[in-house]
Amino acid sequence: MKRVINFNAGPAAIPLPVLEKAQAEMLDWKGTGMSVMEVSHRSKEYEEMHNHAQALFREIAGMGPEWKILFLTGGASTQFFQLPMNMLYDGKTADYIVTGHWGKAALKEAKRYGQINVTSTEKDGVFRSIPKQNELKLDPKAAYVHYTSNNTIFGSQWHYWPKLGSAPVVCDMSSDIFSRPFPAGEFSMIYAGAQKNLGPSGVTLVAIKEDFLAKAKEDLPTMLAYKTFADNNSLYNTPPCFSIYILDLTLGWVKDQGGLVAMEKTNQEKGRILYGAIDASGGYYACPVEKESRSLMNVVFRLKGEELEEKFVKEAKAAGIIGVKGHRSTGGIRFSTYNASSVQNIKDAAAFMQDFQKKNG
Ligand SMILES: *Cc1c(COP(=O)(O)O)cnc(C)c1O
Repeated sequence: MKRVINFNAGPAAIPLPVLEKAQAEMLDWKGTGMSVMEVSHRSKEYEEMHNHAQALFREIAGMGPEWKILFLTGGASTQFFQLPMNMLYDGKTADYIVTGHWGKAALKEAKRYGQINVTSTEKDGVFRSIPKQNELKLDPKAAYVHYTSNNTIFGSQWHYWPKLGSAPVVCDMSSDIFSRPFPAGEFSMIYAGAQKNLGPSGVTLVAIKEDFLAKAKEDLPTMLAYKTFADNNSLYNTPPCFSIYILDLTLGWVKDQGGLVAMEKTNQEKGRILYGAIDASGGYYACPVEKESRSLMNVVFRLKGEELEEKFVKEAKAAGIIGVKGHRSTGGIRFSTYNASSVQNIKDAAAFMQDFQKKNG
C-alpha cells in the first residue's frame, strides 16, 4: 500500500488512524454484527455515537450547553441560503464581509432575502487581503454579520478575531474549523462543511446558540428550518449516518492530538516551513496574498508561466504529492494543508519544491 501526500482542497485528507479505525469496525460496529451504514438511526448504538459527536465538538470548541450542534446536509453552500431564509425576514438587514469566492457566493444568496450592507476586499475580480478592524463599517441593527474565516480558493485567512459590534456574528469556518482555538463566545453561529477539516463530505456542522436560534423564522418548509433540527436533535429524518460517524472519529483524533492548541501549534509550524520555502526561493515561487493574511490551510503560489506550473503539478504527482493544482478560477498552485497533513508531509513537499527549482531554475 502506498498512501500519497494529499493536498486536495476538499474532500481532503483524513487522519490515517481514523481510516484504520473505520476499517477495523466496518463489518461489525459496536457488536451489532453490521456496519454503521446498516444500523437504524433510531437504534441506541447510533444515537449514542451521534450524541457523542455533538458532545465532543462542544468540548473541543469550548462551547456550553447553550449551543445546539446540528448535522445538516447540502454542504456549506446550502447554508448560504438557509441562514438568510431563517434569519433575514420582515425587512431585516444583514452585514456581509466578503473576502473571497465563498463569501461572495454567500452574499449572492443572502441578497434574495433582504438588504445587505457589504464590505468587500475584491479588487479587479481577485481577493488578496483581509480588512483591518478600522475598515469595517457595520450596522448595529443588522440581523447578523457574516464572514468567512479562511478563504479556501484565494489562500487568505483572518489572523485576528474582529470586533463586530452588537449584532450576532455568523462565520463560515468550512476550511479552517478546529485548526486553531477560537473565541466561541463571540459567535452566534458557525458552520462548516465537514470535508475539509472535520472528516468526509455529506454532513455540514452548524453550531448555533439558543438565543440566536430563538429568532429564526417559524413558517418555513420543515426541512429548511433550523428549529426542526434543533428540536429533534438532528434526527427528524435520516441523518447522514456514515459521515457523522467519521466526523466523530475525526473529532476523537483532534482531542487525542491535544485539541485546538496543539492543532494550532502544528499548523503554524507547517506554515513556517512552506512559506519559508516560498520566501527563500528568490521569487521563483510567489505568493500573491499579502503577508499578514496568508492562510495556514490553503497555501497558494505561482511559478513563472502556466507551462512551468503544469510541469510542477505533473512532477509533484510523480513524486507522490497530489491535489496541488490551484482552483480553476485562479490558476497557480495550491497546497491544502488541513489538520490531517503532518509536519513530515510538509517537509517532504518543501524538499520537492527546492528540488524542482534546482532542476528547472
Ligand atoms: C468548500 C467551501 C464551501 C463550499 O462547501 P460545500 O460543502 O461544497 O458546499 C463554502 N465555504 C467555504 C469557506 C469553503 O471552503
